[in-house]
Amino acid sequence: MAKQKGQIGVTTDNIFPVIKKFLYSDNEIFLRELVSNAIDATQKLKTLASFGDFKGELGQMDVRVTVDKKAGTLTVSDHGIGMTAEDIEKYINQIAFSGAEEFLAKYKDNANAIIGHFGLGFYSAFMVAKKVEIISLSYKEGAEAVKWSCDGSPEYTMEPTKKDSRGTDIILHIDKDQKEFLEQARIDTLLKKYCRFLPVPVISGKEQEWKDGKMVDTDKDKVINATEPSWTKKPAELTDEDYMKFYRELYPGQDEPLFWIHLNVDYPFTLTGILYFPKIKNNLDIRKDRIQLYCNQVYVTDSVEGVVPEFMTLLQGVIDSPDIPLNVSRSYLQSDTAVKKISTYITKKVASRLEELFKKERADFEKKWDDIKIFIEYGMLTDEKFADAAMKFMLLKDTEGKYFTLEEYRKLIEANQTDKNKDIIYLYATSPVDQYSYIQSANNRGYNVLLMDGQLDSHMVGFLESKLEHTRFVRVDSDTTDNLIEKADKPVSDISELQRNVLTTLFTNATPKTKDINYVVTFEALGQNEMPVILTQNEYMRRMKEMAALQPGMSFYGELPDSYNIVVNTDNKHIVNLRKEVDDDLSDQILPLMETNDNDNKKVEELRKDNKDEDAEKTQQIKDLEKSIKDNREKQNALVEQFGKKTPIVNQLVDLALLANGLLKGAELTQFIKRSVDLL
Ligand code: ADP
Repeated sequence: MAKQKGQIGVTTDNIFPVIKKFLYSDNEIFLRELVSNAIDATQKLKTLASFGDFKGELGQMDVRVTVDKKAGTLTVSDHGIGMTAEDIEKYINQIAFSGAEEFLAKYKDNANAIIGHFGLGFYSAFMVAKKVEIISLSYKEGAEAVKWSCDGSPEYTMEPTKKDSRGTDIILHIDKDQKEFLEQARIDTLLKKYCRFLPVPVISGKEQEWKDGKMVDTDKDKVINATEPSWTKKPAELTDEDYMKFYRELYPGQDEPLFWIHLNVDYPFTLTGILYFPKIKNNLDIRKDRIQLYCNQVYVTDSVEGVVPEFMTLLQGVIDSPDIPLNVSRSYLQSDTAVKKISTYITKKVASRLEELFKKERADFEKKWDDIKIFIEYGMLTDEKFADAAMKFMLLKDTEGKYFTLEEYRKLIEANQTDKNKDIIYLYATSPVDQYSYIQSANNRGYNVLLMDGQLDSHMVGFLESKLEHTRFVRVDSDTTDNLIEKADKPVSDISELQRNVLTTLFTNATPKTKDINYVVTFEALGQNEMPVILTQNEYMRRMKEMAALQPGMSFYGELPDSYNIVVNTDNKHIVNLRKEVDDDLSDQILPLMETNDNDNKKVEELRKDNKDEDAEKTQQIKDLEKSIKDNREKQNALVEQFGKKTPIVNQLVDLALLANGLLKGAELTQFIKRSVDLL
């Protein structure tokens, strides 16, 4: 062969400035590309040998990455199939590059896409090199070694050369402003990132040892990678310890995973991998760089959105598939049918593994539940198929720490917790401490109370209500225990008009005055054994406010004050006493006033009705009556106020109810303590 000069087959004038300009930020991937090519060449030769198409000695088959700082070169060498001059002409010189500018403009921030689109793997070398040489000797019998050289212009030279051993050296003359790639440490980092699980040994630099107070090179070659990572093996070949060891290799210094799933499919796509369930606890820290994506053991990315369903990004581990189009944009990835199939497969596999664990090792599954719950709930809320599968193994936990499947739980509460409308009421608490007295009270009535204290539980409540028939979730403190599950029509309180008037004023005056909380006094006959005053929070309003906090566009609810009911139990002995005192002390004075006012009110109403033409006399009459009503009311208020001074128990009862809910704070708490001491 004579020395040859030629033009690289590109249609734009010069692709190299383009490569450099656009791909600068991602330029480190050149090393992944070159090492991958070297591995491919090696694997190809092994394959030829295994089919008997190559009969020579395979010999040493490792790939070497050599830094020569003095010469300013970085060399990637392999002992693979090599290339003849014809091969180089075909694979290197003739690169299709039509529509390039348009594409580059579109994908200018995504080196992966550009390189993949044009098969530019080799040319990515020009991102860091001012000149690149290929020295290659093909495996073919009688092949001649060839040297190709190009300085970043579209012109190349190709000439015969001498090379002793089969294979290819790619020599990069590193650019002035890319000197970092002449540092062994930098190269080590890159190789660790992209090549640590490649199937052929990759050697770069020397092992080091501690000598005379510093690290020095030994003469032992440093092998970068583990050529047979666990996911490439069959599950039967691996022990639990192997899986754990591999996990520690991937995520050094992290808590042990809870369990793992080995993925292994050949059809209709090829996919292997191991997914680990990390301990997520109740803290939904959605780090989406947990799963690493590989393509034939070459590291591609750790952002797997699109490839696995959203909720799976909470998992860790590796997925390896040659079928995932790695070099395309994310939006394309998400609509790709192969990727969709993969995503569905992984979901199914994870669900069936969880079900198997639940069935075979229930006790263990329960132990891990608190840690995996957030993952499963996230999955159920975002993935319908997963939700359907998970309905069989998701667990509910009650305030005593017992676990139930949905079916078991329904059976447990059906008899006692069905209300008069045939709805089964699932009582739940969000804080066993804050809602202690309500839980106790419900338990005393024979009700079971679920603990729904997870970060996604407020969503799960709504989700389960929509999935389970005739089911309502009611928080234990949303009403008095009696009313939580309405069995029949409830007893009506026999409180008199006078008592209601007086006590409403007294109890309202005893509630703290704040902008954020609204207190409404109501009266109910709850029986002698129930507390005198109970604070409840309307379930509907509370949920609306909780949702408002999580969703934009619902701020109307978010801005409303919290609303609590001060439920006064008219059967409790303290209230019965109070009612009696009201009658004894006030009926003589207030009842006549109330009666007068009633009559006057009626008169005003009538006068107004036939005073359409605004007769002066009638208008004066109305004014006089209204004044008398107002005076009368003030008299009543004064009487009630005076009476109130003799009944510190009202304040005490309200404060106790507030205290039970953690709502008594600051000055009011101090006052309560002082009053309590006085009352002792
Ligand atoms: P791709 O690897 O995507 O095909 P590249 O530009 O990286 O694109 O390489 C083009 C072709 O050049 C490869 O398909 C291969 O045939 C050949 N080639 C590249 N590097 C080597 C090598 N180290 N040994 C043998 N052939 C190689």
